[in-house]
Amino acid sequence: MRRYLEQDATRALSPTGGFLSAFSYSLNPYLGCSFGDGGGCPFCYVRTLPVAHIDGGRWGSWVIAKRNLPQLLERELSALQQNGKLADSTIFMSSATDPYQGMERRMKLTRAALALFADYPPRRLLLQTRSPMVERDIDLLVRLGSHVIVSLTLETDDETVRRRLTPTSPSVARRIATAKRLRQAGIFVQLAISPMLPNRAVRFAQLVAGCADRVIVDTYVDGDGSGGRRSRALGIPQLYKRLGYEGWFEQGAEHDLIAAMRSRLGQERVLFSRDGFNAL
Ligand code: SF4
Repeated sequence: MRRYLEQDATRALSPTGGFLSAFSYSLNPYLGCSFGDGGGCPFCYVRTLPVAHIDGGRWGSWVIAKRNLPQLLERELSALQQNGKLADSTIFMSSATDPYQGMERRMKLTRAALALFADYPPRRLLLQTRSPMVERDIDLLVRLGSHVIVSLTLETDDETVRRRLTPTSPSVARRIATAKRLRQAGIFVQLAISPMLPNRAVRFAQLVAGCADRVIVDTYVDGDGSGGRRSRALGIPQLYKRLGYEGWFEQGAEHDLIAAMRSRLGQERVLFSRDGFNAL
C-alpha cells in the first residue's frame, strides 16, 4: 500500500554539483516516488541514497509533498534576484524524484514552482519527467520560453522491454505524444534515454526524430555516478540475465543507438551522459 504525506520543508533550492556540475541548484517538490509498481524502477539509484530512508517504508511505496514549497521558493528566488544571482542560476527539477507524482494533481506544487519561475526566470530550468502530466503546464512552460528545457525520459522504444522493466510507467507511444505536443507549443524538448534499456536502435532513432530538439543517451555504467557500481548493487546484471538481456549492461552497448541517432538527427543533437545533461 502506498502512503501519501504532507510536510513542511526548510528550503526549496538545494545547492548541487557532482554529476550535475552545470547546475547551481536542484529542486525536489516531493520526497519519495510513486512510479514503479510500489518498488520504484529497478534501476533507481535514489533508493541507495539517504533520502530513500526518510519515511522508513520501502522505496516506491511513499511520497511526501513539501507543502510549503511555493512560499519557500518565492522567498529564495526573490533573494537571488536581489543579490543579482538569479540570471546566472541554473536549476535541475528534479534530481531525486519525478516532479509529476500522482499527488501533483491535487497539490500542484510543481505548477506553483513553474509559475514562480515564470515571474523570476533563472538562466535555465531543466524540468525532467516521464509523465504526460507535464502537458497540463504547457501555458507556464511557454511563458518561460528559452529559460526552460523539458527533459522527457524515454528509456526504450520497445513496449515489451518497458512493460517488463517499468510496468507502471507511461507507454512509449504516450511519451512520444507528449514530446510532440510540447514541441508543437514551441518548448525545447530533450529526450533523455536514461538509463538506456534494451532497444532497437534504428527504429528508436526513427521514432524520436520528429519530436526532440536534442537527445541524451546515458547508460548504467556512465550515468549512475559510480561507474556502474550502484547498478550492480541493485542487481541489474542478474535481472538482465534472467530476462535474456545479457550484454545490454556492458560498456559500449550504447554505440549502435548513438550511431543511429546521430545518423538521423545529426551529430550535435545527440549527446552522451554527463556532458549531455550539463549542456545548457
Ligand atoms: S521515476 Fe525516477 S525517481 Fe522514481 S523510482 Fe523511477 S527512477 Fe526513481
